[in-house]
Amino acid sequence: MSIVLPRGATLIVASHNPGKVREIHALLGPHGIHAVSAGELNLPEPEETGDTFAANAQLKALAAAKAGGHAALADDSGLCVEALDGAPGIYSARWAGPTKDFRVAITRVQDELRHRKLSGSPAAFVCALCVALPTGEQQTFEGVVHGRIAFPPRGDRGFGYDPIFIADTMDETFAQIDPAHKHAISHRAKAFAKLLHSGIFAESL
Ligand code: IMP
Repeated sequence: MSIVLPRGATLIVASHNPGKVREIHALLGPHGIHAVSAGELNLPEPEETGDTFAANAQLKALAAAKAGGHAALADDSGLCVEALDGAPGIYSARWAGPTKDFRVAITRVQDELRHRKLSGSPAAFVCALCVALPTGEQQTFEGVVHGRIAFPPRGDRGFGYDPIFIADTMDETFAQIDPAHKHAISHRAKAFAKLLHSGIFAESL
C-alpha cells in the first residue's frame, strides 16, 4: 500500500548533513508538511551499513521513524565518477574524513584522477530518498543527474562535491549556479519529483 501523509503531518528529515537538510526543507516547503530534522530531535545517526544508496536511505529512514515516532524521510546520495569505477559512490561522505572536510574529499578525487593521468571525467550525482513509517512501511525513489568533474573547484554555494560537478548542458558548477536552479535539476529534485508523483503528500485533509 502507498504511504500518504496529510497536510500538517510531521515528517522527520533523517539527516545530520546541514546542506541536505536545507535542500530537503526547500523541497518540502510547498507541501504543507511540518518538517523537523533528526538533529533537532537529537536522534542518533545510524551506521550506513548498506551497499547501495537505496539500502542506506532505507536504514536511515526506518531508524528515524522508529526512534522519533513519526514518518521520516532519508536521503542517501553521492557522487559516482566514471573514471574511478563509480567511486566515491556510497562512500562519498566518508571520503571527507572524520572532520567532514570536503576539501579533503575533493582533493582525493583529484589525486585519484591524476593517478590515472586524467584531469576530469564523466560523473553523476545519485540520490535515493526513502519515506518510512514507525510501522516499518517504506517507499524508495531514485534520481540521477549526469555531468562531469572539472578542476579547479569553482563556486561557494551548495555543499559537498558541488564545486567540481558540472551538469550536462551547463557551463558552471553546482556551487556557482543559483540554488533554485540546482533544486530544479538535481538528483535530489528528480528523486523528489518521483516521490511527489507517488501521491505521498495528500493535498488536502
Ligand atoms: P550520505 O548520503 O549522508 O552518505 O552523504 C552523501 C554525501 O554525498 C554528502 O555528504 C556529499 O558529500 C555528497 N553529496 C550528496 N548530494 C550532494 C549534492 O547535491 N552536492 C554535493 N555533494 C553531494
